[in-house]
Amino acid sequence: MKTIGLLGGMSWESTLQYYRLLNQGVQKALGGLHSARIVLHSVDFGPIETLMRNDEWDAIGDILGDAAAGLEKAGADFFLLCTNTMHVLAADILTRVDIPMLHIADATGDVLQREGVNTAGLLGTAFTMEQEFYRQRLAERYGMDVIVPQQGDREIINRVIFDELCCGRMVGNSKQEYIRIMKWLADQGAEAVILGCTEIGLLVQQEDIKVRLFDTTPLHAARAVEMALEQVDCRSDTK
Ligand code: GLU
Repeated sequence: MKTIGLLGGMSWESTLQYYRLLNQGVQKALGGLHSARIVLHSVDFGPIETLMRNDEWDAIGDILGDAAAGLEKAGADFFLLCTNTMHVLAADILTRVDIPMLHIADATGDVLQREGVNTAGLLGTAFTMEQEFYRQRLAERYGMDVIVPQQGDREIINRVIFDELCCGRMVGNSKQEYIRIMKWLADQGAEAVILGCTEIGLLVQQEDIKVRLFDTTPLHAARAVEMALEQVDCRSDTK
């Protein structure tokens, strides 16, 4: 079995899900007392979030690049960035390591494509919804038409992620707001909605809404289990 590197802590609430899902996946596949081989580097998200707000992405690239190099040194055969947003730095981080990275948009795009989804709504941080790096990868590699919420609703989605979900709390009507926005995406023609932030699954689940949800955290983890068990190729073509 290969060793999975996790670059986590963004936030730790979702890294916890990764840890559970990876171990459950390996245990299910191999039985008995088997569990995943994991090396985890969990960052302090506070200073990183400040750097994000100040648009100091190079500094974040340095921190995450060093952390990824540490995972490689500690024996990881490949690694996962346990956040959608930080994939904006994927190419930068990959210049610092020789091991492959399993890109979260590939783990998601593959499944969407296999399920015949052509048009998907995307929820995530403002960075993920508004910048090119994520939508473009889904469009170019998986032929996906990606719809994002309107400006005011993007602000709501983003605020709930940072003020609530990353802090492990849910208040007021956040869940109802997410459901309202997902319904709007479906009305615009989205056949499915991508939960493109690793904490959103803590707030909304499939039973909350009719439109199909594709949660990036379990999809990413499931593909990582396949890679660890060498059921799929362990390579990265982000470089
Ligand atoms: N975990 C989140 C994501 O999947 C947001 C936190 C971050 O900005 O990294 O995008």
